[in-house]
Amino acid sequence: MIEKFSIDYARCLDKKDPISQYRSQFNIPQFQNKDAVYFTGNSLGLQLKNHDFYLKQELEDWKSIAVEGHFHAKTPWFDYHRSLAADTAQIVGAKDTEVVTMNGLSVNLHLLLTSFYQPNKNCYKILCEPNLFPSDLYVLQSQIELRGFDPQEVIMFAPVDEHGVVIENELYSMIHANKSQLALVFLGGVNYYTGQVFDIPKITKIAHSNGIMVGFDLAHAAGNIELKLHEWGVDFAAWCSYKYLNSGPGAVSSVFIHEKQINKNPFRLSGWWGHKKSNRFELQNKFKPINTAEGWQLSNAPILSMSIYRFSLEFFNNVGIKKLITKRIKLSEYLEDAIKLCNQKNKFKIITPGNAKQRGAQLSIFISQDGNKIFNSL
Ligand SMILES: *Cc1c(COP(=O)(O)O)cnc(C)c1O
Repeated sequence: MIEKFSIDYARCLDKKDPISQYRSQFNIPQFQNKDAVYFTGNSLGLQLKNHDFYLKQELEDWKSIAVEGHFHAKTPWFDYHRSLAADTAQIVGAKDTEVVTMNGLSVNLHLLLTSFYQPNKNCYKILCEPNLFPSDLYVLQSQIELRGFDPQEVIMFAPVDEHGVVIENELYSMIHANKSQLALVFLGGVNYYTGQVFDIPKITKIAHSNGIMVGFDLAHAAGNIELKLHEWGVDFAAWCSYKYLNSGPGAVSSVFIHEKQINKNPFRLSGWWGHKKSNRFELQNKFKPINTAEGWQLSNAPILSMSIYRFSLEFFNNVGIKKLITKRIKLSEYLEDAIKLCNQKNKFKIITPGNAKQRGAQLSIFISQDGNKIFNSL
């Protein structure tokens, strides 16, 4: 057992690993003149050495042709988001027409909820997990108030165990039991705190069989677990690009809207970039949306941020989620065994449910004594 955790053995595993060569393409932050052991990729992914590949081009086009870049840049800015569509669609298992990249994540959640949270006086409740990311909770609360409801009466929290892990069967029964009042089930694909991976297809199926809309915040799922949003029939989702997708601080977000929802042409907050492209610049006085997810765009695109995301997505899809998952399972099992070895006094509890195959790339550990001390020394 101990042998397995020697540095030589670990290096030997690395040598045999089919994707270990990619490590050298990242800039690793330095700590005491050595590569840091970076455990925070789920908060801000690391930078690639070539991350400015497309960025340089955009800076150059801006410098040399300025406003003409909208139509004559190497990748015209007018339509720049299309250069990311196939790769973003691949990350979440969608059609190209069901995804678009724009804004920040919290902004996108507002836009999606504006369209897909459609409460009425009998059916207005929202079911979510209790340890929701704070921003998601604020987004929900303010959306509810905007519609004239009281957040306290609207938000229902799924039942959890002592560590905040949602008890799946109770979540499913809760959907059935409250179907007449539930307007929306809104969950994280992977909970940011516990690392719990939700059974997205199952939740979607149960919600739909009860006539309820389903949306997911995939901030911790995109680039982490395999997703098939189109096939699963998820109504809408959004994610950020700077966590598992390594696109830099505050980088642009993407959304998914299922084509069956796009085709219903629901109300949306609108802006000129969502208007039909053929006459977008003719300054029409009536909004006519593009009939894809692009029809939810408001502003002209943040090209510089998108150019970094574009490079990341290409890099990412080039490696492929399947290989990443294989590696992630090995790493998680290795870490879990290491934790078990030093846990003879039962100080640590892994609260992320399931085994390494059912989890994402996160193990949440609850430390019953000296938590701060251990955190700081890590
Ligand atoms: C990281 C994260 C956010 C952050 O939102 P921004 O608008 O990008 O600042 C929101 N929700 C979840 C679930 C997150 O994990």
